Amino acid sequence: MNPRPALTRGVDPLKWRGKIKNMALIGFLAGLGLAAKAALGFLPGSGIASFPAEMAVPAAVHRESPASLLDLSDAELLGLVETDPASLGSLSIGRPGSAAMFNAVPLPADSRWAAAPSAVTWATAETVEAVAAVVGKVHELFPGTQPIFIGDISGRDGGRLKRHLSHQGGRDVDFGFYYKGGLSAWYRPGTAANLDLPRNWVLVRAMITQTDVETILLDTRIQRALYGYALSIGEEKAWLDRVFQFSRGYSKAIICHAAGHRTHYHVRFFNPVAQELGRRVYPMLLQLKKIKPPVFSVNHRVREGETLGHLARRYGASVRAIQQYNGLASTQIRAGRVYRIPLKGVSAPPVKPLILPARFLPPVTPELLASAAWPTPASLYGERMAELSRSASVIGFAFRRI
Ligand SMILES: [Zn+2]
Repeated sequence: MNPRPALTRGVDPLKWRGKIKNMALIGFLAGLGLAAKAALGFLPGSGIASFPAEMAVPAAVHRESPASLLDLSDAELLGLVETDPASLGSLSIGRPGSAAMFNAVPLPADSRWAAAPSAVTWATAETVEAVAAVVGKVHELFPGTQPIFIGDISGRDGGRLKRHLSHQGGRDVDFGFYYKGGLSAWYRPGTAANLDLPRNWVLVRAMITQTDVETILLDTRIQRALYGYALSIGEEKAWLDRVFQFSRGYSKAIICHAAGHRTHYHVRFFNPVAQELGRRVYPMLLQLKKIKPPVFSVNHRVREGETLGHLARRYGASVRAIQQYNGLASTQIRAGRVYRIPLKGVSAPPVKPLILPARFLPPVTPELLASAAWPTPASLYGERMAELSRSASVIGFAFRRI
């Protein structure tokens, strides 16, 4: 299995680092280059782990986290929901395209990033930590770097956000790019000529090696530029070919192409604690009326001849509700397009326990990047877990999708 089967009881979550550890359409710009974004459904993540022979092991980061809550029994959790729901920390309930949040935290102000104009940035603590980790790595290697723009994450209670299809559970983050010359810009199409490739590569590399990233959506042209840069500084080709989808068309690549992602990265992080705790606690929150039953939705691809009336009858939703949910001004719908149907009074779709995939670490860190400490399996998971993952790295693949 993979090194972090961990969200099952019996595994000390702190072992794998107290962790706290995602089609549509483009908006457009106004004035200074702000905009709405593209979002997406589910895309595959990464691959198997491989292991560096030796690298400096950075001191493990320890902090109190609600990870220990995963060891509580359901009865104990129910007690907490009743008496001290704030102690549960931020929870991500459901799937990125149909999710609710509980105790969401705002993306804190930080000199290393700036919220994009009109961005909605409620997240889980784990997602905030991941953002800080990856942006922090860029600053560690390139002190004095200009702030990067952070676009939408999620709404405070989760649920549908603007025109995104995902961004509902506090795990999807839109990151701007680092541009040459220290230019800070949001939603400016990236090109091989205007992107600061070293900084962008450090950012992406940190997402892959230092966080539990599920997927990174990025236009193929930008993938190509980053890939070329990474190769040029000595990153291993075999590793890169599994990280980038464009190069070999690897279906489980972490970095996948999606239309509309030439202006920003769409990054989905796994939230091992927030997701698993959310899965377990959600029925209790409903039972004790601590959360309003959210409106969950399903995707429906319209077939030739289908009308809004058909969809309304089929799913028990009103025509008006479907119009509102999809921002439709008329009752026209188009065959071949996907619409979201809101399902009222339905509880969250069942979500299986999260099984975290192994982080996909590169076998070596190029000299150019070696001045900063990059994680090793041991530093991420401890020796025992690293050992386990070594023997199970191939099987880990089977558990890659959740
Ligand atoms: Zn996005």
